[in-house]
Amino acid sequence: MKTILIIEDERDLLDLIAFNLEREGYRVLTADDGKDGLQTAKSRHPDLIILDLMLPGIMGTDICKILKNNEKTANIPIIMLTAKGEEIDRVVGFEVGADDYVVKPFSNRELMLRIRAVLRRSEPDNKEGKILTAGPISIDTGRHVVTSAGEEIVLTTTEYKLLLNLAERLGRVQNRDLLLKNVWGYNYIGDTRTVDTHITRLRTKLGSAGEMIKTVRGFGYKMEES
Ligand code: CA
Repeated sequence: MKTILIIEDERDLLDLIAFNLEREGYRVLTADDGKDGLQTAKSRHPDLIILDLMLPGIMGTDICKILKNNEKTANIPIIMLTAKGEEIDRVVGFEVGADDYVVKPFSNRELMLRIRAVLRRSEPDNKEGKILTAGPISIDTGRHVVTSAGEEIVLTTTEYKLLLNLAERLGRVQNRDLLLKNVWGYNYIGDTRTVDTHITRLRTKLGSAGEMIKTVRGFGYKMEES
């Protein structure tokens, strides 16, 4: 049974999401403010977090950053809840490391689809594992550990999947739509900015090794050993 933590200060919405999740067979944890949410995320390590953007005390975006920059919680997928016009661009840009977002008001069906897709791509697809290398980068697919020149790089689940997709097809160009399909698991309908912003974050985290990820103008990306 998967455990989902909901951090949302609107009590009615919190209860409604909790009710729907439990009906779908998820174990539910709730928090109605940021501080409590952070605490619960760290102590209970849920399989996924649904995080409201506007919270009293600590903003959802800050909570997301804190969790994604902590080695112990970086791999927990986060779906952000935003209201229309609420700094959507920043969230759409995934600058804070969220794995996905849903704009209020959303249907229960939409939320469940997002949850299932995000959970699916956070599951290790190869339990035995193998070591993939590209230049100084080494990817242990069993343990989901990435190192560059021996130094461990902490990646979010989405960044990890993106890197794996590029490294598995070294030297071959992959267009954004294919990356969206392979990494995000469903169609974003033309929102290729999602891929671009994640590539930018991935390059930054990889440091000089990030230069191996080449932009192929008007098409997509490829990873090249050079
Ligand atoms: Ca709120």
